[in-house]
Amino acid sequence: MGTAAAHSTDADRCQATAFFCSDYRHWNGPLNISQALRSLVGHAGFDKIAKPGAIHALVHGEEHHRRAILDDLSDLVSLHQPEWIYLIPHTDCGKYRLSFGQRDEAEQRQQLIQDLATVTTLILRYYPLVRVRSFIAVMKPDTLSDLEEVTSLVAAHIASLPSSMNDDQDHRGTD
Ligand SMILES: [Zn+2]
Repeated sequence: MGTAAAHSTDADRCQATAFFCSDYRHWNGPLNISQALRSLVGHAGFDKIAKPGAIHALVHGEEHHRRAILDDLSDLVSLHQPEWIYLIPHTDCGKYRLSFGQRDEAEQRQQLIQDLATVTTLILRYYPLVRVRSFIAVMKPDTLSDLEEVTSLVAAHIASLPSSMNDDQDHRGTD
């Protein structure tokens, strides 16, 4: 009793895992995305998964790609038991441009909210005990200009979906 955590100290425990785009511009300008995230969430410790498009492959990628990212996430959840998962795609993302062509910012945001809703639902299915927060990193041409939290917009989008899209298992939620 009381020895279960003997080999796992608080220093081993990271509070969050954050999904970023690999885009160099996130770290290139006066506003650094790690600092911007820290000031919004109020703690310093988060693991990083950086992929082109951030969450893009989890929605639009090939199955083996999607699986590889979920394996990375699974490792980090096992190692550090994060309380939070932060999803941080961005506007003017080259990976999204490759998939969808040139779009205006409103269309980009609409796509990102939709994808954030899909990924939030996916993550909560695997890890029902974590909490997910969603952000959109807003880009100027060469640098990050803002980081906006959109968790409530994503929740509203999820709530607006038919329940069959919230859950591709064949059971009914109790709502
Ligand atoms: Zn990007």
